Amino acid sequence: MAERYKKLAPLEGPQWSEGSPVVIEKGALLRDGSRNQNLLQLRLRNTQDKPLKAVVLDVDMFDVTSHSLGRIHCSFLDLEAGKGASFGDDTPIWLDDQTARGFRFFVSSVVFSDGSTLGEGSEMESVGETVELAALGDLQDQFAREIALLNAKVVPQVLTTNYGPLWGCTCGAVNGTSEPACASCGLGYEQQLAIADPAYLETQAATYRDQQAELASHTAQVQKREARKKVWSFIAAGVLGVALLGGVWYAAMGRSVTYYVDAPSSSALVTYTSTFGRVVQGKVSTPWKQTVPMWKGSFISITADDAEKPRQAPALRVTVDDTEFYGLPNESEVFTSIYGTCP
Ligand SMILES: [Zn+2]
Repeated sequence: MAERYKKLAPLEGPQWSEGSPVVIEKGALLRDGSRNQNLLQLRLRNTQDKPLKAVVLDVDMFDVTSHSLGRIHCSFLDLEAGKGASFGDDTPIWLDDQTARGFRFFVSSVVFSDGSTLGEGSEMESVGETVELAALGDLQDQFAREIALLNAKVVPQVLTTNYGPLWGCTCGAVNGTSEPACASCGLGYEQQLAIADPAYLETQAATYRDQQAELASHTAQVQKREARKKVWSFIAAGVLGVALLGGVWYAAMGRSVTYYVDAPSSSALVTYTSTFGRVVQGKVSTPWKQTVPMWKGSFISITADDAEKPRQAPALRVTVDDTEFYGLPNESEVFTSIYGTCP
């Protein structure tokens, strides 16, 4: 959707006339696309102590060739504008002649809140040009940081400027030179000039860059530390989880299998399966006993052979969790064996 208001032209600089209690801080010629009519929008500011009740301006209009198009009057009424207060933004000055492009302003009359008045003044003239923050180049961000240190609520709009009889605050307000601090935002003129000094801003910007680099390095270290902590917590949680699962698994599937061999001689050759199905074989002194952990369902097997007493098969016994295991016996005169599935 198209914007309702289109800016046709800005008005020249802050405008003021000698002895005027108000200044035209800024303004613009706008086109209202909805009404198909041009208007002036002005922001005025009270630059002296007495509160204002009403201000009437005379506006001389000129076309693009500087040909006079006559004069209009515009009133700003029902004001309660104390020292430093702005007004006029929300009071459009509708123009009947749509070709007007040049304007001259006169303060026709001013009514103060105490009832006193001021008569016709001379033409208001530009006191100078507003200097944009961009004039500071790369230092404008540092200028904004310095202003924020003085007052975090103030957003710099323009560069602090000496207009001779007036001075422009960075907040956009225009003040009389007798005012040491801005009537609108409270920032001092001298302190603004001091921090707008490019040499000062350069030094401060360098310090700021160093601080940022230090902060970035510190943040990176903290993040690294946190990341390492996370990895270790993850590993610890994983190990704990595996241990717990293993514990649960073992509780469900783990068996304690004990092999007993009693051979007639003092030694016998014994072959049995260990935990993971490994076949273990060796000569043992009898009576011999070996306990190994096994999984439920794994193959249990034990064979004993007494070489010294070949005709007397050794006695065998297997228990699973202290309960007798009745595997399939396989006895001969030479050896004895039992095998089956771990219950
Ligand atoms: Zn200010």
